[in-house]
Amino acid sequence: MATNGYESGLKMIEELTTNAEQIQDEVLREILSRNAGTECLRGFLSQTDKQLFKKNVPIVTYEDLRPYIDKIVNGETSDILLAEPITGFFLSSGTSGGQPKLMPVTAQVAKKWELFRCLSESPVIKHFHDINQASKRMELMFARPEIETPSGLKAASVSISKYNGSKFRTLLPKLYTSPIETIFCPNPNHGLYCQLLFGLIQREEVVKVGSLFASTVLRGIKFLENHWQELCYDIKTGRLSDWITDSGFRNSASLIMKPNPEQADLIENICNCKSWERIIRKLWPEARYICCICTGIIRQYTTELEFYCRGLPLVSAVYACSEAICGINLEPLCKRSDVSYTFLPNMAYFEFLPVKNEPDGSIEMKSNDEDTELVDLVNVKAGQCYELVVTTCAGLYRYKVGDVLMVSGFYNNAPQFQFVERKNVILSVDQEKTSETDLFKAVTEAKALLDPLGFILTEYTSYVDTSSAPGHYVLFWEIKGKEGQHCKELDPKIMVECCSRMEESLHYTYKIYRKRNIVGALEIRVVKQGSFEALIDYCVSKGTSLSQYKKPSCIKSEEALKILDSRVIGKYFSPKSPL
Ligand code: AMP
Repeated sequence: MATNGYESGLKMIEELTTNAEQIQDEVLREILSRNAGTECLRGFLSQTDKQLFKKNVPIVTYEDLRPYIDKIVNGETSDILLAEPITGFFLSSGTSGGQPKLMPVTAQVAKKWELFRCLSESPVIKHFHDINQASKRMELMFARPEIETPSGLKAASVSISKYNGSKFRTLLPKLYTSPIETIFCPNPNHGLYCQLLFGLIQREEVVKVGSLFASTVLRGIKFLENHWQELCYDIKTGRLSDWITDSGFRNSASLIMKPNPEQADLIENICNCKSWERIIRKLWPEARYICCICTGIIRQYTTELEFYCRGLPLVSAVYACSEAICGINLEPLCKRSDVSYTFLPNMAYFEFLPVKNEPDGSIEMKSNDEDTELVDLVNVKAGQCYELVVTTCAGLYRYKVGDVLMVSGFYNNAPQFQFVERKNVILSVDQEKTSETDLFKAVTEAKALLDPLGFILTEYTSYVDTSSAPGHYVLFWEIKGKEGQHCKELDPKIMVECCSRMEESLHYTYKIYRKRNIVGALEIRVVKQGSFEALIDYCVSKGTSLSQYKKPSCIKSEEALKILDSRVIGKYFSPKSPL
């Protein structure tokens, strides 16, 4: 979108949010009129009436949909699920809730995504005026190769639809530092090396640094920490390192690289300093903001990211998933804790399943959805938490996305939501349930003990160890010294204290169960530096796109567990029950 085009985007947002109710009704009417006769819906609907839809169509999960998807994947015609022909599938990352899921894609879905991307950029361009002839974006972008299903239809991550778009490809050389070949590289580390290299070569033009998620930006910085000398050498000599063998990369590099010892020395001096605080501002002096999603479980990365980009705002621009396009952030400069996404009523038909807010700030999930009435988009209540249910033009009817959101306010007549958590990521030994948010709060309390000692918790995840009775919570922590301290210097007493602090910060039920020895002592396993990188590598090797990767709050796969367990360098247990 051109800088002067953002006004039409803002105008459209005004119209959509003002007429939210009417647009939602139209969206549902259109979906039902097209699809009421499909095998999936016709048992529930004889007409396209909204009340009948609400009364008869059940709320479903991916498991309910899977038989239809599996049939289509194996060659049956897609009209069993939806009338519009399917052009392929989106592959959800599967790293937030378990296995990857396949979501049907149609021409209409592709159009909606294109519009959404334009609209979501409008508030950002309004604030930063960051697109003009002389400015570029250094965005870390990765596209996993498409997978061909037996039906011949391809499955790929949502981001590929953007990178394959003709509009994006035309804009890429003008607006971005990365050549297309580096985005489609089968080896993400080769792609990352080259994207950093091209970003450094064009460092004076870069006004925006980013990626889809904060975790990928951090991965980029860590990669830079390990490779800056080699990158500087390449810039000095004007030659791409030999281990990058891809001919497309080498061609792109030969077009832009020439020996530049002055630039290499400058970058070397910056990278050689003791502390990497503000490194992004130093390396990309014209950068005005960092654009990446920092909400939900990804907020755990923001403290570390803020250290590197001190002084630059972190902008979380969108909330969307492979299943449905949802909302955009209209206040890119707001405080991190205030980030809200305004839902766009033309993207899907949205309904909301109320979940109970507990007085201690935690939320309770109702186990029986049947008794709970779904609330329409325009009727949600400020302060209330809901689980998102979507009906889309791509064959999802009353589908539970698995995200819990809280209404923070309204923009015109469209609600704004803060992301609370993934619903299904919980730890539980017995009847106690620990959500992603509970865990995040407890880890935040405990890691504060590391700060005065000069250590930062850079990554964590968890699982329930039931190999001995009673089962207990295990936290994997990757810890880094702020200025060169080694993890071996960690004080065991403090680590034990961290275990206690976590238990004290967990909810009442956990503490009662712990006191009764139904749940065993919480354990922290400190892992070697780079262990979580190994976990990413593993997920990427299994087909997850690096851009879409979200570290799981809770480990569910045996292989992933083995990766972390084989890198443990210290184990610490809570010494006493917290009550
Ligand atoms: P995927 O379909 O693999 O792209 O993953 C989509 C999931 O990512 C959503 O259901 C959310 O759980 C998470 N997600 C997407 N956008 C945001 C956001 N802005 N804040 C927090 N979590 C998000």
